[in-house]
Amino acid sequence: MLLLPLALAQAGERSLVDTSDSPHAKMYMVDVDDVQWREGFWGERFDVLKESMIPYMWELFQDDYESHAWSNYLIAAGLGKGRHGEGRFRGPPFNDGDFLKWFEAVVNVYALTKDPELDALMDEIIEVVSKAQREDGYLHTKVIIPQRQGIAEAKEFEDREHFETYNMGHLITTACLHYRVTGKESMLELAIKAADYIDGLCRDVPEDLARNAICPSHYMGVMELYRVTGDEKYKELGAQMIEIRSLVPEDIGSDHNQDRVPFREMEEAVGHAVRANYLYAGVADVVVENGDWSLFEPLEKIAEDVATQKLYITGMTGAIYDGASPDGSKKHHSIKLVHQAYGRDYQLPNLTAYNETCATIGYNLWNWRMLTLTGEVGYMDLFEQTLYNGIMPGISLEGTEYFYTNPLRKLKEFDWPLRWGVTRAPNIKSSFCCPPNVLRTIAEVHNHMYSLSDGALFVNLYGANDLDTQWKDGQAVKLRQSTNYPWDGAVRLDFEKAPNSQFALQLRIPEWVNPETTQVVVNGEKVASGIEGGQYFELKRKWKEGDVVELDLGFEVSLYESNPLVEETLGQVAVKYGPLVYCVESNDLPQGVDLMDLALSLDAAEKGAVFGRKQIANTTVTTVTLPAWHLNSEGWKSKSLYRKASKTQAKPIQLEFVPYYAWGNRGDTDMTIWLQSR
Ligand SMILES: [Zn+2]
Repeated sequence: MLLLPLALAQAGERSLVDTSDSPHAKMYMVDVDDVQWREGFWGERFDVLKESMIPYMWELFQDDYESHAWSNYLIAAGLGKGRHGEGRFRGPPFNDGDFLKWFEAVVNVYALTKDPELDALMDEIIEVVSKAQREDGYLHTKVIIPQRQGIAEAKEFEDREHFETYNMGHLITTACLHYRVTGKESMLELAIKAADYIDGLCRDVPEDLARNAICPSHYMGVMELYRVTGDEKYKELGAQMIEIRSLVPEDIGSDHNQDRVPFREMEEAVGHAVRANYLYAGVADVVVENGDWSLFEPLEKIAEDVATQKLYITGMTGAIYDGASPDGSKKHHSIKLVHQAYGRDYQLPNLTAYNETCATIGYNLWNWRMLTLTGEVGYMDLFEQTLYNGIMPGISLEGTEYFYTNPLRKLKEFDWPLRWGVTRAPNIKSSFCCPPNVLRTIAEVHNHMYSLSDGALFVNLYGANDLDTQWKDGQAVKLRQSTNYPWDGAVRLDFEKAPNSQFALQLRIPEWVNPETTQVVVNGEKVASGIEGGQYFELKRKWKEGDVVELDLGFEVSLYESNPLVEETLGQVAVKYGPLVYCVESNDLPQGVDLMDLALSLDAAEKGAVFGRKQIANTTVTTVTLPAWHLNSEGWKSKSLYRKASKTQAKPIQLEFVPYYAWGNRGDTDMTIWLQSR
């Protein structure tokens, strides 16, 4: 395939998700190297990513005992024998794709650092992957290894839980980015082979392909490949892969995998939340290219369903370990098992929350695409809520320990044996999908800070960085963003270069700000105050070098309550400050004070929140201390289930809260986000 040389690419065509030519996109990303972190929250996280997260995980992947992911590629490529020289596949079937998510993080780091060692490492890895891939484009080492050893029983798509399309989807996504960043076609060629293989399946055995669309990363991948190559075949393939989902036979299809009913008949989020969110993100990618609003209609309904009935305050999704769907249906025969699933409306348990980190990442991928499609700022609010409070908890502050599931409360007394631990672990051998997914998400935050449309620059997120970008018409803008966000809401933008014509600077005002203290000052002159949250605030003018915009986002400590239909949090409150959800950890409590014997008055924040700075692991966080109550309820130390209620004695106590994303970094602690209110 002949590609246009990258040097001729117009602005936006070298971005992570390129919607610069998408007919139904309201905005497009800046190029992948247009934003450079400086200091601050994200600058620090990016440094930890570079120096700890990525090298640590590379070591892990190369370890034949801890992971075997790299060995599987080497064996399939005929370049290694693996553990004990056995030459066989080990580990979960989705490890090929997980490895490529880590690779995607490396590509992003390379985009910003241009570190030649990373470039060489990527070349080395691509060489191996290319040898591991089958000539027809199929990539799945679990099957390729035995096939190359002449084992006749090894067949493709024997088991839908083998994640073949997921693995190939990640190859395609990663390769598109690698090409855009390096200009090398070495990996893109592998992606084209894989996509052509999938295209062949879609024509020849559509039912098989539909049945095997597990965690469908390939929908997003194929649509991105269309954007890179401009080949209409991939756009049609993307659309067709959604259509063929209705071919999954009734005895196999289930809500667990969102294939019990055709997509257009769906009205709510169901089933395995990673699979669901990847599907929804993929559908959004199809719609932004082909404008099929009959797909958008259910998609928007599902998005509304999640945001208003199935989303944790942390932006996490997929509440249920094991359940049934459609739960409570009159058609009893249609009910099947679901796991790590979206539950019923308002079913949001805390202690047993599943909330796989990947599900939350999928939700973020989806929200970004919904923002691109609609331009509605609410999707960016959800993106940010999810990023800080749903995804960041998935990795330790030092970058070497992970959460797979994410409860909102942990208590030693609750000792129901759950499949997954709620203590950070340096490896999750049976399912290492989340850790590299978190890495690529952190590596990609800079791509989401700004977006462009004709005559507009959107500031979506806040964090200290330098932007140097262009619109499609070649007009350039350069500015420096300075801020301590998320620790306070003061943001300063210094223009270093501006186009000759006017453009609209669109500042995102998050839904949660206090309008009374939200204002905008341009070149020392107040231009607006009392700005309501939940909008892009437009400043349209002819900008010039030296212009300064000072935005004050009204940060405050607020107590939140949930809809009373969320039984698990009835009569409880959670603490938020700015975009961050806070929690209490047991190691910040005085001796003898139990986490569940604490209560907050509804006016605790007004009575006096005191801010502090605290060192947790390798980083400093802002703490919030609030006046609270310590309730005397000793009787619950026994296993009794009920007792006569009586007025409890309450003693005042000062209670220190830490950001939820930083929990579990100081040993095996108890923790809660929700506290009783009184
Ligand atoms: Zn995962």
